[in-house]
Amino acid sequence: MQLQDILYSQGFGTRRVCAGLVQQGLVEVGGEIRRDASADFDTAGLRFQVQGRDWEFHEKAYVMLHKPAGTECSQKPSTYPSIYTLLPAPLRQRPQKGPVQGVQAVGRLDQDTTGLLLLTDDGQFIHRMNSPRHHVPKVYEVTTKHPLDARQVDKLLQGVVLDDDPQPVRAAACEIVDDHHLRLTLTEGKYHQVKRMLAAVSNRVEGLHRSRIGALELPADLAPGQWRWLGAGELAALR
Ligand code: URA
Repeated sequence: MQLQDILYSQGFGTRRVCAGLVQQGLVEVGGEIRRDASADFDTAGLRFQVQGRDWEFHEKAYVMLHKPAGTECSQKPSTYPSIYTLLPAPLRQRPQKGPVQGVQAVGRLDQDTTGLLLLTDDGQFIHRMNSPRHHVPKVYEVTTKHPLDARQVDKLLQGVVLDDDPQPVRAAACEIVDDHHLRLTLTEGKYHQVKRMLAAVSNRVEGLHRSRIGALELPADLAPGQWRWLGAGELAALR
C-alpha cells in the first residue's frame, strides 16, 4: 500500500494532509525518514512514526480502554468529558463509510461506571458483541449501599422485572464477595441494567466497575484513562 494511503487509512488526515506529512519529512518507516508519499510498503505488522509518535498499522482497530469515572460514552457529551478525548486523534479520525469517523464504543457505560470498554471501527463486531442473541457475558463488580444477602442473590438469578418491560431479566451469575460487594454477570445490556436490577431487590448501587467482557479481563496494568490495542489472541477469544 502506498505510504500516503497507509496514513490515510490509519486516521492521520485527508489524503492531501497525509501526503504533506510525508513530503515534510515527518514520517519514518524502519527508522528512516521517507519523503516519497507513493512508496509501497507491506502493511502486515508495519510500524512507523508520525511526528515522532509510534504507530502500528491495523486494518481494523480494536482497542480496550479503562474507562475512568466522570466520563461519558458519547461523541457529544452533555455534562462530563467524552471518553473519545482519551484516545489519540488517529483513532478518532479513521475514515469510515458512514457519517461518523473513527472508532465507536461497543455499548455504553454510565458516566460514573469504571472499567473495561471496547472500541472499534468494525460495525459487525459491535453488532455481534451487543446482540443479546450472542450472550457475551459481561462481569460487573458492584458496590452496594445496603448489605447483601442470599435472598437478593436468588432473586437476581431467578429474574427481576424492570419498570419498562414485563419480561424478567436475570443475572447469568451472581456471587457475594463480601457484605457490600457483588460480582454480577449479565449477557444483555439494557439501559442502567445493573442499577435497576439492584433497585428491584431493594438495594442500591454505590459503585460499578466492569472487570470482564467474554474471555477478556481488564488488565491490572491498564490504568484508568489508558487504552491499548487488543492482541490477536484476545480478539480471537472474543469472536
Ligand atoms: N449497568 C448499569 O446500570 N450501568 C452501567 O454503566 C453498566 C451496566
